[in-house]
Amino acid sequence: MSQDPPRIVIAGAGHAGGSAAAFLRQYGWKGSIVLVGEEPDAPYQRPPLSKAWLKGEATAESLALRPARFYAQQAIEMRLGTRVAAVDRAARQVTLSDGAVLGYDRLILALGARPRSLPLPGARLAGVMALRGAADADALQAALGPGKRLAVIGGGYIGLEVAASARALGAEAVVIERETRVLARVAGHALSAFLEAQHRIRGVGILTGVEVAAIEGDAGAAQSVRLADGRQVPCDTVLVGIGAVPNTEVAQDAGLDCAAGIVVDLAARSSDPAIYAIGDCTQRPLPLYGRSGRLESVPNAIEQAKQAAADICGRAPPPPEVPWFWSDQFDLRLQMAGLAFDVHEAVMRGDGSEPGFTVFHLDAAHRVLAVEAVNAPADFMAGRLLVAKQARVAPEILRDPAQPLRGLTAS
Ligand code: FAD
Repeated sequence: MSQDPPRIVIAGAGHAGGSAAAFLRQYGWKGSIVLVGEEPDAPYQRPPLSKAWLKGEATAESLALRPARFYAQQAIEMRLGTRVAAVDRAARQVTLSDGAVLGYDRLILALGARPRSLPLPGARLAGVMALRGAADADALQAALGPGKRLAVIGGGYIGLEVAASARALGAEAVVIERETRVLARVAGHALSAFLEAQHRIRGVGILTGVEVAAIEGDAGAAQSVRLADGRQVPCDTVLVGIGAVPNTEVAQDAGLDCAAGIVVDLAARSSDPAIYAIGDCTQRPLPLYGRSGRLESVPNAIEQAKQAAADICGRAPPPPEVPWFWSDQFDLRLQMAGLAFDVHEAVMRGDGSEPGFTVFHLDAAHRVLAVEAVNAPADFMAGRLLVAKQARVAPEILRDPAQPLRGLTAS
């Protein structure tokens, strides 16, 4: 049944959910908006949790997505510390964990993802941690400092960022990666090799091509990570950073189409016309690449929040964006755009052993599929445009730092 005034319920008060509430008002939604969030905090940004916040260099105000007064000013009702437990699609209502039942005209699922758990002995010992929310970051920060030893299982972005922050806090850090290089799933070989070298120079131990057999402890607390080859990595704290699992259970229970995430189109519509899904919990079209996939990034959360809000408010969908991502480690700013599917050739612009280089990933027709930059923001911006245009550029031009990238068009 339709609500009076019409009501939008947003399940999940993270980056995507908080952004959707704001875009709905910006695009003219006059009905009510109820933002239901499992965490006790108003929407906040997660990227600093492994970087500035972990190092003690950020304030709660700078972490918040919007100032606290924003939600009251915009008549956005907050139900925090409460989860959406079930969706009744026929009745168009959700049941909350506190027993309340809320009817909706439109429902936006912005449920995010949770850290993948480690199915190994010792994973429940004290000192074994994961990092997703502010409470996790606070616990991790309390465990790091001079004389402390951190073992990071998983050489992805979060693991590398935490290792870099741990060094800044004076702790020892070792990263343990099963693949033969760090960032194997998300970066090219040159960037992986560069980052491994930079971490080692700054005192981070990097072990690649190694399996973890168990976390071992004494009196219930982690003391070392045992590798399958018998080696031990002594530690006081273990960060498990082996990827994230999308929170799709509520959608699955409601019978919505789900694959690797909740399946949506370019307007963020799910298989039910009254329900949208946005952010880390979705499997979305990747129009530049002719396939679909899951993106875990702030730019994606914001893009899909715009898509859902535009569709609900009867506006034209925003033009598809090039997927992009950033990471800060030590004094290095990494920026990546595009997705490196079916790469034929990787072209290095600059000296890949020093900060200040860019890698272009090309297909066989010299189309720029993806770009990775380290402390090279101008080349990154130009490269992102080349990806958006699917420009074909001769590798010699890309390779030569004397050749300007701005103004290059499809040829
Ligand atoms: P989330 O921000 O996770 O929000 C989902 C919210 O929904 C959570 O608060 C969750 O508790 C809540 N929830 C779940 N189930 C329910 C339910 N049933 N009912 C109510 N509420 C529910 N991205 C970048 O682009 N650059 C970076 O440098 C970067 N660094 C990162 C560092 C860390 C440590 C982490 C964890 C992530 C980082 N990311 C980064 C990824 C980025 O933060 C996420 O892609 C983004 O937060 C996704 O937003 P979201 O709203 O989909 O999910």
